[in-house]
Amino acid sequence: MEQKVKDILEKVKVTASMAAEAAGKAAEAAGKKAGEVVEITKLNLQIFDLNTEIEVLYKEIGKMVYNTHTGEDVSAEELDAKISSLDEKRAQVSAIKEKIAERKTSNKCPNCGKDCDKDDSFCRVCGAQL
Ligand SMILES: [Zn+2]
Repeated sequence: MEQKVKDILEKVKVTASMAAEAAGKAAEAAGKKAGEVVEITKLNLQIFDLNTEIEVLYKEIGKMVYNTHTGEDVSAEELDAKISSLDEKRAQVSAIKEKIAERKTSNKCPNCGKDCDKDDSFCRVCGAQL
């Protein structure tokens, strides 16, 4: 492998721990907004859109790495920007997935929509059976 490719891959590895941290922060932010009413289908659509953008970024980053092999000019700044953007989008996907999981485990009243405890049998607001 060429040295330039090795350098770039090394750089990509360094950003890996930063990505994990970013994902954690995004998940935390999503947890704080747990009360927000957002339909799961809407969230899944957001994930779909993000994944489409992520695929494009993977392709572009891969092409840039390959270009170092063929000797074309590769801008480290541009590569950094794409990797950061990829980190951000992946963190967003994790946050949305967490949001969906949260909604699926909540005990929402089918009558009034109030979030009740998982152990409740009846809604604390309207008394409907859960
Ligand atoms: Zn209710």
